[in-house]
Amino acid sequence: MSVTFWGVRGSIACSGPDYVRYGGNTSCVEVEAGMHRVIFDAGTGLRPLGLKLVAQQTKTVDIFLSHTHFDHVCGWPFFAPAYDKGTRINLWSGHLHGSGLTTRSVMMRLMEAPLFPVAEDVFQADISYRDLDAQATLVPAPGLTLTAAPLNHPNGATGYRLTFGSRSLVYASDHEHQGTEPLPSLLKLAQGADLLIYDATYSPEAYPAHAGWGHSTWEEGLRLAIRAKARALALFHHEPSHTDDMLAKLENTAKRAGAKHGIKVFAAREGVTVRV
Ligand SMILES: [Zn+2]
Ligand SMILES: [Zn+2]
Repeated sequence: MSVTFWGVRGSIACSGPDYVRYGGNTSCVEVEAGMHRVIFDAGTGLRPLGLKLVAQQTKTVDIFLSHTHFDHVCGWPFFAPAYDKGTRINLWSGHLHGSGLTTRSVMMRLMEAPLFPVAEDVFQADISYRDLDAQATLVPAPGLTLTAAPLNHPNGATGYRLTFGSRSLVYASDHEHQGTEPLPSLLKLAQGADLLIYDATYSPEAYPAHAGWGHSTWEEGLRLAIRAKARALALFHHEPSHTDDMLAKLENTAKRAGAKHGIKVFAAREGVTVRV
C-alpha cells in the first residue's frame, strides 16, 4: 500500500510561513492499495486530493470518516469527484449509532442554507452515504479488509485498520488516551500494524490543560505502538499552534524515544507518501 498525507493538521486549517514544512490542511489521508483508493477523512486536504483523482480519472472511491467534527468533513463540498457524473463514492462513518443521526443527515447539514450557497443536489456523482457499525469488518474491494473500532472522543469517533495482502495500517484520529493503559479495542486494532497513524495533537507538557478535549500525545502514541508491537508510528492531527520549528523539535524527541524500542516514529507531513 502507499499512504499519502493530504492534510495532517487538527482542529482548523493554518497557512503562512510557519506551516510550510508540515502543512496546514486538516485531516485527509489517501491509501492506494492495488487498484483501489481508500480515503480517511474529508478535511481541507480532500480538495487537492480530489483534483488529483479527477486528473487520474479515478472512478470509484471509498471515504471513511473518523467522525464528523468540522475539521474532518469541511473539504467534502469541495471534492471535485463529487461533481463528476461518472464517479461512484461511498462515504462512510461509524460513530453515529444511537444518536438518531446518519452519515447522510449530518453531511446534508454541511450544505444547508444559510451556511452554504448550494445544496447537496449540486453533486453529480453516484454517492452512497453509509453507516457502519463501529466494530464492523468490511471488504471494500477484493483483497482489502477494513476493521473498525470505537475511539474515545467527544460525540464519538472511529478508528480503522486496513489490511491488504500481508500489510496493515491503522488510522486512529481523533482519540484521547485514558491513563496509561491503552483502550482495549484500539490496542487490538493496532496489533502488529505496519503503520499506526495516531492523534498526537498535544505535547506531553500541554496535554494536562486540555484533558477532556478528546486528543492525545506522541508519548501515548508510542506507548500504544510498543504495546501493540506496531512497526512505525505517524504523529498526526497536529495542533494549529505548533509551528514547523515546534513540530520538528517534537518529532526529534519522539523519534529518539521510538528508536529505543525499534519503532520508526515520524510526524506526518502534507504531500509525503510512505510505503507500507
Ligand atoms: Zn479533529
Ligand atoms: Zn474531533
